Amino acid sequence: MKNIKYSIIVPVFNEEEVIQKTYQRLTTVMNSTNAPYELLFINDGSKDKTEEILVELGRNDKKVKLINFSRNFGHQVAISAGMDYAQGEAVVIIDADLQDPPELILDMIDKWMEGYDVIYAKRLSRKGESFFKKQSASLFYRTLRSMTDIDIPLDTGDFRLMDRKVVEEMKGLHEKNRFVRGMASWVGFRQTAIEYERDARAAGETKYPLKRMLKLSMDGITSFSYKPLKLASYAGAFLSIAGLIYMFYVFYLNIFTDATVPGWSSLIIIQLFFSSFVLILLGIMGEYIGRIYDETKNRPLYIVRDYYGLEERNTLRRNKPVPITLKK
Ligand code: UDP
Ligand code: MG
Repeated sequence: MKNIKYSIIVPVFNEEEVIQKTYQRLTTVMNSTNAPYELLFINDGSKDKTEEILVELGRNDKKVKLINFSRNFGHQVAISAGMDYAQGEAVVIIDADLQDPPELILDMIDKWMEGYDVIYAKRLSRKGESFFKKQSASLFYRTLRSMTDIDIPLDTGDFRLMDRKVVEEMKGLHEKNRFVRGMASWVGFRQTAIEYERDARAAGETKYPLKRMLKLSMDGITSFSYKPLKLASYAGAFLSIAGLIYMFYVFYLNIFTDATVPGWSSLIIIQLFFSSFVLILLGIMGEYIGRIYDETKNRPLYIVRDYYGLEERNTLRRNKPVPITLKK
């Protein structure tokens, strides 16, 4: 392994408008550390000029490395691939759109030198994002926190520095539907936060439409909580008690009054209520079963089309089938 101190992982998906600028700011920041580093771009199936620009940058700067996916596999997979290939002693994950200020990496490095293993960046505010995005993100982080037993910090994205030993542990987590920031909390070690104001995107549009945000939040909740599944048993218990009480009432009506025929409305209401509830619970089951199915298929997490600047393939724990040696 070459002597690289810092690896900066940058997932990119159609970022032709900012990528040059991002490269420059990262380079300025990283040069000021006077330590050997690499800028590892994971091109997540971009359809614009992102790849061309990065290849060109790599021609002039050997610190630039590029991994091209065969198609779009998603942000969380891209950063996971970055961890597979990163060679540095400390590994930083940062967005390509300059919403995470690169200068903050220097503060993270200071904390790392102090002995912390994970330094994550906590957003105090978010600029240039819609009211809906801010509110839904805030609600999501709070819901997730109330549902899980592990300590996933609030308002924290994937912008973080991790020590090599943390990265090695993360590489051993093989789940397919990934929520990397939760996984980083799960592995533990000495973690600390630094706070920052999240900037607006330097250019271009968000690559996280509502559909992807919902997928990410579902991944976060299902990978770290069984609570939604327990909903079925709680609801079942509650409804059977309510049903029992209602049954006595029905008996009463039947025996002591002659008002049983006009019971149509209550029947319909109960019917609607129960069937929608059952459907919701089936949906929750489906979310988990779908993910179990994904795991059992055991497909590789991503497929790399080609590389630039990476001479040797790193050992890919996740992608390569591990040969089984049987003891005699
Ligand atoms: N990204 C990616 N693959 C995707 C979607 C996004 O690699 O399928 C990258 C994107 O280029 C950016 C980062 O992930 O570097 C965060 O995406 P974005 O800024 O669009 O998300 P937002 O900040 O709006 O939540
Ligand atoms: Mg962004």
